Amino acid sequence: YDDRDGWIWFDGKLVPWREANIHVLTHGLHYASSVFEGQRAYGGTIFALARHSERLVNSARILGFDLPWSVAEIDAACIAVMQANDLTDCYLRPVAWRGSEQLGVAAQATKPHLAIAAWPWGAYFGEDALAKGLRLDIAPWRRPAPHTAPVHAKASGLYMIATMSKHHAEARGFNDALMLDWRGQVAEATGANAFFIRDNVIHTPTPDCFLDGITRQTVIEIARKRGIAVQERAIWPEELETFEQFFLTGSAAEIAPVGSAGPWTFEVGALTRQIQKDYSDLVNGRVSNG
Ligand code: PMP
Repeated sequence: YDDRDGWIWFDGKLVPWREANIHVLTHGLHYASSVFEGQRAYGGTIFALARHSERLVNSARILGFDLPWSVAEIDAACIAVMQANDLTDCYLRPVAWRGSEQLGVAAQATKPHLAIAAWPWGAYFGEDALAKGLRLDIAPWRRPAPHTAPVHAKASGLYMIATMSKHHAEARGFNDALMLDWRGQVAEATGANAFFIRDNVIHTPTPDCFLDGITRQTVIEIARKRGIAVQERAIWPEELETFEQFFLTGSAAEIAPVGSAGPWTFEVGALTRQIQKDYSDLVNGRVSNG
């Protein structure tokens, strides 16, 4: 990802892609004092831009550092980097971290940094998996309890077990992994939230120990506007065999139907396709969310 043409917004300036470098003694690298975002632009408009910028600022605050850029400034920087790279349909990756001014667990003297990159990114799981439904493994790692990690921040450190679970799944031929939480309840995939359908009612785990995704919130609004009941509640894995449909949601993943998770199988059904179309219409500006 580092050796290519293009521009990256870095601490207030657009710099050539290959020159957007940091020092090896960066605190964020050693101690995971780093948070990030991920959002998509459709036809030149970044979907839910301010909500992503707000979450970035909040994630940093949860980890104990304040960004010297406002939400409006981060929004403007995202638009600037998209335009500088001549992109209209792309993924954007803001990342904020503590710098290399101090090294050790204590980091009060470090400076906060922010970089934003943008690049074209097609279907997160590939077109084939989207058509047929994803095959999910059950992750060997569980999402941590809220008092053992900053579970509501989009903090890089929380992705250590996500990458390990994703690699474990891909090595065994799966597209991704479904993660349980510390209690053993269904939580989410390694980078997307989970929704289930039974008898035209939508069920989704309560986000009390994982990210309450912006796509997740959007899908709940879309469904309720259609008059479809949505239940947020605890879901145990034993209940998976009773669900007819299952899909994942995320800014990168969008709406991705699931065909199987561990021993349980699901159909790629009409309601999943409807939600997928409604989401696509919304992000592409074909309907308003008012
Ligand atoms: N959970 C995790 C672990 C994620 O990485 C993401 C992607 N940011 C999500 C859920 C979905 O969040 P969003 O819809 O805000 O992209």
